[in-house]
Amino acid sequence: MDLLNTLVDKGLRRELPTRDEALAVLATSDDELLDVVAAAGKVRRQWFGRRVKLNYLVNLKSGLCPEDCSYCSQRLGSKAEILKYTWLKPDEARKAAAAGVAGGAKRVCLVASGRGPTDRDVDRVSQTIEAIKEQHEGVEVCACLGLLSEGQADRLRSAGADAYNHNLNTSEGTYGDITTTHTYADRVDTVQQAQAAGLSACSGLIAGMGETDADLVDVVFSLRALDPDSVPVNFLIPMEGTPLAKDWHLTPQRCLRILAMVRFVCPDVEVRLAGGREVHLRSMQPLALNLVNSIFLGDYLTSEGQSGQTDLDMIADAGFEVEGADTTTLPGHRVPAATGCGSHGGDAPDAHGAGGCGSHGGGCGPCGEDTGTASVAEPSEPLTARTDLVAVRRRGAGTDLAPNA
Ligand code: SF4
Repeated sequence: MDLLNTLVDKGLRRELPTRDEALAVLATSDDELLDVVAAAGKVRRQWFGRRVKLNYLVNLKSGLCPEDCSYCSQRLGSKAEILKYTWLKPDEARKAAAAGVAGGAKRVCLVASGRGPTDRDVDRVSQTIEAIKEQHEGVEVCACLGLLSEGQADRLRSAGADAYNHNLNTSEGTYGDITTTHTYADRVDTVQQAQAAGLSACSGLIAGMGETDADLVDVVFSLRALDPDSVPVNFLIPMEGTPLAKDWHLTPQRCLRILAMVRFVCPDVEVRLAGGREVHLRSMQPLALNLVNSIFLGDYLTSEGQSGQTDLDMIADAGFEVEGADTTTLPGHRVPAATGCGSHGGDAPDAHGAGGCGSHGGGCGPCGEDTGTASVAEPSEPLTARTDLVAVRRRGAGTDLAPNA
């Protein structure tokens, strides 16, 4: 396929594909899918070899959020029967993090529900970061606390945080459809505050919320322009009790196409397979390792993932290796002055976006460009609901039970 040869060449050169090329990846047929995976796999191996970085989520504060993000089980008015608890003490969070590190995680993601932290919350999280760093000197710590106010990113950086996560989630044009209590611009501002403070930016998306192919391309191009170091790709887990509970739009094949498109647009960035992989990729998860170079180990914020040992076995069986603590994740040209999704961040038509580990997704919208001549699929009708694969988290942080790591 000429398309795939072109995309591999561009990916190896860190050159931005056209919007038509990105849309064409999403429009490929099932017969072409393995060729698409193999092509994006070449780009993945060029920049990250066969390494898989493991990340571990610690939900510091669960539920009871005043915001109304429609995909989120912790939202205002959520009827989802999730764990609800207020801030973990620093030592409780340290213990939860230790389980992830023992399981092979080199990054710990500290997440809290809410619109954004108070200065007192930043104090608490700073104490938690210090406790984790004291026990695990080399571990990376990422904070995901919502919208930041002036000076808070600097304080987190001073406390030892390495990264900050805030997701764009969807296109700027559809952002208002999923959230009304804050704006896309708010999210962009927080990601940029984190970058300005010297924190490594992590910002990604959620697929499966009824968006079009053009929306997906918009958000990924906006992420490239925003220039995060890592891009988590979440697949919506339609939780009972949330407004999107009936939104089952994803197939394993669709998920693989989305991941391949993200890899082609952000070739040398840490693309992280995030929430929803077990639910939507199912037995196709190992194929996705050819596209992403990073996953979450164990459970998610409010739902359970497959066992940590199953994650490790999957990586080994697929011929990949867990990235060691002594290995730098990003390619040399992005360290230490990381330059975002590839070397051509300024090429993209728009630069809006910010997002996170599945609890603070945001959205960047259409980039204001014509989507070109490639076919643009409309969101499909809902598929069969696989509610049998969705399990609310009942172990780990906020419970007396051992975490899954
Ligand atoms: S995504 Fe974050 S801000 Fe939005 S409802 Fe969930 S916890 Fe609150």
